[in-house]
Amino acid sequence: MRILIADTLAPEAAAYLGGQPDTEVTTRTGLAGDDLADALRAHDGVVIRSAVQVTGPVLVRCAAGDGWRLRAIARAGVGVDNIDLETATRLGIAVMNTASASTITTAEHAFALMIALARNIPWAHAAIASGGWDRSRFVGTELHGKTLGVVGLGRIGLTLARRALAFGMEVCAYDPFMNTPTALDGHVILLESVNELLARSDFVSLHVPKNESTAGMINAAAFDAARPGVRIINASRGGIIDEAALLAALADGRCGGAALDVFDPEPPPPECPLRNHPKVLTTPHLGASTTEAQEAVAVDACRAVVTYLRGEGIIGAVNTAGVSLDLSERQRAFVDLAGRMIALLQAAVSPQGLSRVRFVVRGEALAGGADSVARHALVELLRSHLDEPVSVINAALIAEQRHIETETVIGADHGEDRLAIEIEIEPDSEPRRVEGAIYADGLPRITSLDGYAMDMVPSGAMVLLTNTDEPGRIGLVGGVFGDAGVNIAEMVIGRKQAPAAGDTIAMMILKLDAAPTRELLEALRRGPGIVRVASVELGPA
Ligand code: NAD
Repeated sequence: MRILIADTLAPEAAAYLGGQPDTEVTTRTGLAGDDLADALRAHDGVVIRSAVQVTGPVLVRCAAGDGWRLRAIARAGVGVDNIDLETATRLGIAVMNTASASTITTAEHAFALMIALARNIPWAHAAIASGGWDRSRFVGTELHGKTLGVVGLGRIGLTLARRALAFGMEVCAYDPFMNTPTALDGHVILLESVNELLARSDFVSLHVPKNESTAGMINAAAFDAARPGVRIINASRGGIIDEAALLAALADGRCGGAALDVFDPEPPPPECPLRNHPKVLTTPHLGASTTEAQEAVAVDACRAVVTYLRGEGIIGAVNTAGVSLDLSERQRAFVDLAGRMIALLQAAVSPQGLSRVRFVVRGEALAGGADSVARHALVELLRSHLDEPVSVINAALIAEQRHIETETVIGADHGEDRLAIEIEIEPDSEPRRVEGAIYADGLPRITSLDGYAMDMVPSGAMVLLTNTDEPGRIGLVGGVFGDAGVNIAEMVIGRKQAPAAGDTIAMMILKLDAAPTRELLEALRRGPGIVRVASVELGPA
């Protein structure tokens, strides 16, 4: 696969890609517009930072006509404002970021800000730098025994909380998306509201995304509710703290000090009163700025592209409409099974159109990743029907645009891991169903195909036959293969699980040592009592 590094990245990125046996890496920086589109077109994946503008027109030009290759864009870092996500999604291109690579670095920065606030470090340093030596002005406060309130207990919030516990702090948190009363083995208490958190915290650190619910969440009412003299740290996003409310709270002592790494806008205008406030410590968005994090984001972005292009999963995707597409090994095995199930169902039914697809997932290992497994399976199903490129990124959108209803059902009893896929060809037609499982030997099994019960490992060259269920059919089929000189490696006979009265059709699946020729398939079709013949070629199990 061909990967383009289109932005200035830590040298470890090219070194990582260069070390991959299946990867060809090119570095070209400074590309824009048509030049960028043409370069993207010739590569399977691209790694960028914030300087490269992957706009809608660039993507459209990249994907015009046949022969374009781009399937993945990885951003070394977090913000993806420089990528047109909607167009990328429509074209089935995965967009990934590397949010977790800066977790420790940012948590450490927030911690550094908290200690600096507690011990007045920047102001003491400034006093010495300007010739002074005033010790009494800078008496600080210990962190030990104080309460830290963490707003947003995600990756960075949790990492900060662990460090605060090690310093002997009490830690509480507010995160409406965590449904547990405590976190970190009961050491962090989760509170009902941000104001409750402010009321019991000596230090408050913000680690939330910026959205409608968090913009301005630390406002005048929050400072009214806060423990008097609360010190506040923001290394998340500018605008989470209402600036005017902060200035007022600093002025009357409701807030004892603030440490800000982020601003809205950035940089803040020269006249911004927070720039030079005696109780405000500032850093210029340095949260993720460490050598380790720069290396980590660059290498993580390259790893994300390679992993995705190899079909080994998807890490940090931002355009999957909320479905986490990271798969465990067990879930990946089921995705592989789903591909085999779909190939056999298509061969058995040869659907001309699809109106409804239903994935029924059972078992603990699958229940957690049901949507991911179903999304990957949907790709397999759509791929065989459509010319346009289908990926896990655009599969749901394509199904919607083509009015194919999709549904994922998790088996109520959970039970053992199993997967069933049902398709309806016409609206409200009788569903056609394939069922599969993976047993302890790790091999994929088809347990039922279009109503015929069986137990078979779907792999290699196979022929599916439906025939009247009468004596002599097996001999007849064996004779045709013998005449053609094709060895049958395995034969499975399936009978209807719930036959209707007078229904006497059976299904035979033959696994062969070599792919059948067209003549052989024609000879089978001419046999008496043979209703239908199809062939399928699958990879080794
Ligand atoms: P994350 O997604 O792992 O965690 C965010 C948490 O906030 C989640 O647990 C979520 O449930 C919670 N949350 C969402 N809405 C909330 C609300 N209204 N109230 C309380 N909690 C809420 O993200 P992360 O990687 O921990 O990053 C946190 C923030 O830090 C993000 O805004 C990110 O952009 C920012 N960040 C800043 C820097 C920097 O350089 N200063 C570096 C990295 C990340």
